Amino acid sequence: MREDNCIFCKIANGDIPSKTLYEDEECRVILDLGPATKGHALILPKNHYANLFELPENEAEYVMVIAKRMAAKMTEKLQCDGFNLVQNNGETAGQTVFHFHMHLIPRYKWDNQLIGWKPMQATQEELEDTMNTIIAE
Ligand code: AMP
Ligand code: ZN
Repeated sequence: MREDNCIFCKIANGDIPSKTLYEDEECRVILDLGPATKGHALILPKNHYANLFELPENEAEYVMVIAKRMAAKMTEKLQCDGFNLVQNNGETAGQTVFHFHMHLIPRYKWDNQLIGWKPMQATQEELEDTMNTIIAE
């Protein structure tokens, strides 16, 4: 399940070389070309799914298993102090490559990186209203 002209299909399947940290039949883990921190990696399923909605549940589970294993290995090897797992889903959320990928970003006490959001304020009523919107049948 590849898509023509998808760079991550080509990387995941080995048609374009990459700095590969791990590979199996389902996925490849590579170093990001523009790292947020040392060791910033991307988990790429070998099948083409544009985004989280297209990703089958069993592959979604597997991505998290690989994230957990890689985080343990990278913590040992890089001596990082924490991790951010990030998946930008959709253009509005910052997705630029439309082949599903999970960012695995090692964090260091000294890294001074900005990964996050500006907390807004919400009243109890607004939270209630949002909750009801989401859970409504
Ligand atoms: P996103 O904005 O979540 O779609 O993330 C795309 C990521 O892919 C960015 O962090 C880029 O630095 C990274 N990237 C783009 N092209 C390549 C490539 N050829 N090899 C490795 N990483 C790449
Ligand atoms: Zn693809």
